[in-house]
Amino acid sequence: MILPTNNTRHAVCPYCGVGCRVAARVGDGKASRISATKSIAPNFGLLCQKGALLDSPEIWNPAGRLTTPLVREERDQPFKPVSWDAAAAFIAARLDALRKEHGKDTLAFYGSGQLDTEASYIFTKLFKGSLGTNNMDTNSRLCMSSAAAAYTMTFGADAPPGCYDDIHHADLFFMIGSNMAANHPVLFTKTRKRLAANPMARLIVVDPRRSESADAAHLHLPVKPGGDVALVQYIARELILAGCEDKSFIEHATQGYTAYRDALLAQSPDVLLQTAGVDEHLMSEAVSLFMLADKRLSFYCQGLNQSTRGVDKNIALINLHMQLGEVGRKGAGPFSLTGQPNAMGGREVGYLAHQLPGYRFVADADHRAAVEKLWNIPKGSIDSRPGLSAVEMFDALARGEIKAIWNVCTNPAVSMPNVDHVHAALRNAELVIHQDCYDQTDTGAFAHVLLPAAQWGEKTGTMTNSERLVARSEKLFDPPGQAMPDWWIAALVARAMGFKGYDYVTAEQVWDEHRTLTRGTPCDQHGITNLRLLAGPIHWPCPDDDHPGTPRRYTDGLFPSDSGRARFFELEPAEPDESTDSRYDLILTTGRHAAQWHTRTRTGKVPELDRQYPRPVIDMNPHDADRLGLADGDTVRLYSRRGAFTGQLHVTDTVPPRTVFTTFHFGDSFAPEANANRLTNDAFDPKSKQPELKFCAVRCVPVLANEPSRQTAAMTEATP
Ligand code: SF4
Repeated sequence: MILPTNNTRHAVCPYCGVGCRVAARVGDGKASRISATKSIAPNFGLLCQKGALLDSPEIWNPAGRLTTPLVREERDQPFKPVSWDAAAAFIAARLDALRKEHGKDTLAFYGSGQLDTEASYIFTKLFKGSLGTNNMDTNSRLCMSSAAAAYTMTFGADAPPGCYDDIHHADLFFMIGSNMAANHPVLFTKTRKRLAANPMARLIVVDPRRSESADAAHLHLPVKPGGDVALVQYIARELILAGCEDKSFIEHATQGYTAYRDALLAQSPDVLLQTAGVDEHLMSEAVSLFMLADKRLSFYCQGLNQSTRGVDKNIALINLHMQLGEVGRKGAGPFSLTGQPNAMGGREVGYLAHQLPGYRFVADADHRAAVEKLWNIPKGSIDSRPGLSAVEMFDALARGEIKAIWNVCTNPAVSMPNVDHVHAALRNAELVIHQDCYDQTDTGAFAHVLLPAAQWGEKTGTMTNSERLVARSEKLFDPPGQAMPDWWIAALVARAMGFKGYDYVTAEQVWDEHRTLTRGTPCDQHGITNLRLLAGPIHWPCPDDDHPGTPRRYTDGLFPSDSGRARFFELEPAEPDESTDSRYDLILTTGRHAAQWHTRTRTGKVPELDRQYPRPVIDMNPHDADRLGLADGDTVRLYSRRGAFTGQLHVTDTVPPRTVFTTFHFGDSFAPEANANRLTNDAFDPKSKQPELKFCAVRCVPVLANEPSRQTAAMTEATP
């Protein structure tokens, strides 16, 4: 383990779930250039362009920052700067009044997988423990809730079984619903290194688009949007017919295999192929690669999760790996990639509407009692009813059933599906508190209170990456103005409301309380002390001070379910929530560009990143462009059943006919029709409540040259 020298500190990159750690030499309150160190996990010297540009002056320039608390009584009034105590008193009085007049469930919290574990923990304690409402959800609902639900259903607890080291041992990589090259670039570099070092290793990418990842693959399976379950089931069925089943693992470590196998064999391969939308010869090649491989490692992300069938898509893949005995085995298994840097840590503290700390659940009386005892609050303080999930929460806000929302470290006015509805909901709120690093955000425009948060590098906190690796992200230098860590702000308001148990002085105190609550749970972090975190990151479970951590789980074939076994589920292929028709004849699927992050509040400020993707672009197949009389570079508008979006057409055969692709990076603050989420569908998976962001029916029309459009003007200006 590398102990930091006196003036070298390590922080966690604030972008994707790879969780790269960067080093900076600190002196005079300033950090030097940021770099990655070869000996430091998990990235071992690698950084992608976003991470390498974290020391850009534009990111740290106080000009774009929120530096003082701002309050206004009504939205048509100007904000007034106030002290922290005055801001906390204002919030406490308004929350208290609403709670007394309308009830505790009229208050809501909407947070983020970019919050550190300490902040996620204090907000969970405040809302679920002290305020007694479970109306607390985060953008992890839009990101990982299908993966979390599927792991819980199959293994008995959330989180992947393996770790990044598996990349060095795998001989077949199966990427499905993940454009790793763009969205988890450092892991993709590791994967490519493994492929280069082992000429027999192979990469299959399943994606409707020929993405950057698919371009590098040995085999690209251009699945029909929504056809993932059928595609995985076709492979699983062919493997069963070829005798590819790990009978020992199935017998000793699982349940439900016979029913799964029978249901799979009863399916028609032709129907599966048709639903998957991939040619039979490509699928046969995929089956052959699965049969030839010894260690198959699947990576997946939003392409499986963001769907009304997200949980089924996850389970189909987990079923396949269990059938092959590839859980708890080095170099193999199902591995979900978290989109955000601490989506895992947030789940560990129980910040989703149905959860409690330590992978406990609000609906479980024993779990509630345990947490109430540890929080030292009266029995019955925690409500037994799961709260409203993200989409449901904004629906309730629009209906007036929720009156106040405290939004932290995320920009739902850009990132939620069916975003016009979300704007209406925010306008309808009696109190919107927005806590952010930046002063000009789309969500902040709806706020009554703006709270300045310290950003990455300006505070100490803890993050868990995609492989369950817990790392300390250290403070490199001071935040500007009065900006403070998110956990500090939550504790200040809790004290202003008169709640006990929030007298924290340091992030380390918060971490100590959190790790204590995980003791004996499936995500046990009790042995991950502050002192050990100073020396380096540790994989959970880690129950004791002398435990080395657990890079791979389930190696003994024991699972944290009631029976101790993992469980197979039978699945039926099904269609997405909405369909195309003569009016909406194209399928829109959304994603990200490698140079931008979420809603561009940070990456949009870095010229080297922003100029790579400075405006909304719509990818369309040449066949559709010809059919619609459109040319590359045209400004076009997409309409869905919910709204309109304008972008610049990019004619490319990387998208299949009848499918268009764009990103969700831009909001109204860029241009009036720049937000792709005006189009997207807020229907959600019944099990995970994760909404459908990958499939909506649209039509495309040209924007006429003489049409008065602020969007057209903005796009012209943004053209380099
Ligand atoms: S791969 Fe992810 S965590 Fe690593 S530097 Fe890039 S954005 Fe940051």
